[in-house]
Amino acid sequence: MTNRKGTLIVLSGPSGTGKGTVLKHFFENYADDKIKLSISATTRSPREGEVNGVNYFFVEKDKFETMIENDMLLEWAAFCGNHYGTPKAFVDENLENGCDVILEIEVQGALKVMEKRPDAVFVFIAPPSMEELKSRIVGRNTETDDVIDKRMETAKWEVKNISKYTYAVVNDDIDKAARKLKTIVDAERLKVEKINLQF
Ligand code: ADP
Ligand code: 5GP
Repeated sequence: MTNRKGTLIVLSGPSGTGKGTVLKHFFENYADDKIKLSISATTRSPREGEVNGVNYFFVEKDKFETMIENDMLLEWAAFCGNHYGTPKAFVDENLENGCDVILEIEVQGALKVMEKRPDAVFVFIAPPSMEELKSRIVGRNTETDDVIDKRMETAKWEVKNISKYTYAVVNDDIDKAARKLKTIVDAERLKVEKINLQF
């Protein structure tokens, strides 16, 4: 008989490295109903096509501050002029129910989760090179030149933190990267501490 507790999986890496793309492919092709994606709150304005409650909970700054004050966020960070945070209740309810939960967050937030939840698993999605990162973020066509420069500067600091993570996945190919993520999820589920075997 198994009585598996959910695993918190924190996925981060520089903006433009392909986290969102890999996760979408992972959830469409390799996920089961025992793994959930956390939806973050942000003060950033929606990009074209982004939907409130699907991509993010888009909130005003004062609402975000109230969430911080009421201890509703597992972690939060200021990133390139906006605030981003992980609603705690969704994460804990799902972990409690035996589901794995994936957070897609930037590196400052991941470092906070390392302190608060050392039993979580940390996956760094790395770009094949910094040149390719720049070309992806430019190619996405969602940010102004000024914001792209800020994000590239931040990326240089972010990649220096890679050694703090449990796993690294280079996103050279979307399907390969999603399959690597599936391998990580499967391996975590096989850990003895996650399985309650009764003979
Ligand atoms: P992030 O969520 O890390 O900010 P996105 O998922 O938005 O990044 O991807 C940034 C851009 O790079 C998008 O235009 C996406 O289509 C592209 N992209 C993602 N993964 C790959 C890949 N393996 N090869 C080429 N382009 C990619
Ligand atoms: P974007 O504006 O491109 O959607 O996100 C910018 C960065 O914020 C990305 O690296 C993304 O992973 C990160 N991010 C999204 N949600 C959260 C969150 O809840 N907390 C933290 N710390 N970062 C987040």
